[in-house]
Amino acid sequence: MTLIDGKAISSKVLGECRTEIDSLKASGITPGLAVVIVGDDPASQAYVGSKVRTCRDLGMHSQHIALPAATSQDDLLAVIHSLNADPAIHGILVQSPPPPHINEAEIVRTIRPDKDVDGFHPENVAKLTMESPDAFVPCTPLGCQRLLLEYQIPTAGARVVVIGRSMIVGKPLALLLMARGPGGDATVTIAHSRTRDLPAVCREADILIAAIGRPRFVTPEFIRPGAVVIDVGINRIPDATAKNGYRITGDVDFEAVAPLCSAITPVPGGVGPMTIAMLIGNTLKATRQQHGLPPIRP
Ligand code: NDP
Repeated sequence: MTLIDGKAISSKVLGECRTEIDSLKASGITPGLAVVIVGDDPASQAYVGSKVRTCRDLGMHSQHIALPAATSQDDLLAVIHSLNADPAIHGILVQSPPPPHINEAEIVRTIRPDKDVDGFHPENVAKLTMESPDAFVPCTPLGCQRLLLEYQIPTAGARVVVIGRSMIVGKPLALLLMARGPGGDATVTIAHSRTRDLPAVCREADILIAAIGRPRFVTPEFIRPGAVVIDVGINRIPDATAKNGYRITGDVDFEAVAPLCSAITPVPGGVGPMTIAMLIGNTLKATRQQHGLPPIRP
């Protein structure tokens, strides 16, 4: 059984990004990412903090805009308009979820599609569907695909089952894996809460991807022996022995499932670290596009 080391692959990708950043800076271009957060949700703040820190560590320009929970829709739209117009900012991300009074769909539609490094704008969703190489693809699905590529896990012709149909993970991941080319060409099934006999559907999978948000939901009865399992879940469960009172667990019952798999991602240390690496990669792609430079990666 291979343990898929997302931390190691993420470091490798960020190393490649650093080289690219250095060469862009040598030609007078400093890639810039703006991260906007509304409210004080601790998990969202932690994610935003690590995104901004990573940018700074890599020598990028970054702007961390923290707005109070009571910020109005119009004030948030005004921030987005000003970032859209700022030539020092190549990528814009608004941390999800915003407070309930914010219309997130309108915010996403307002971000310039060529600065939409989260890949949530309808134009980028359409481009991904059309397999357009200039699409910005959501970072977590991109990270899952990159892990499969790095570990040379064949996807062409493979049966993939994705549990979860969200716009952030399940749907874009299915589109990526069914697209033509390296890391694609799979036969993809998307399952969700209305799927009949979910364990039987999952047992068809050569590659099973769990993006559900339920701790240890995937048990041995979901696994075809020798399958590859990618666990996207990040769930906080109470743990009195932990310093902060909780620990992170995935959607897969790792201890029970791992012995049946040919390869599996752990949580933490699997998909999680890849998301930020892909965000930096998307920001560099946006920078190159906005400066009329050819893409480095396909
Ligand atoms: P959503 O809540 O948006 O989607 C969850 C999906 O799981 C839905 O499609 C839902 O089905 C399905 N589901 C829920 N319960 C069941 C069930 N009993 N049987 C079958 N399907 C079920 O979550 P996200 O996609 O945003 O996130 C999924 C997980 O991934 C979460 O743990 C999240 O924290 C994690 N995540 C991790 C990231 C990372 O960086 N590693 C980034 C983003 C998310 P239905 O549509 O029918 O309700």
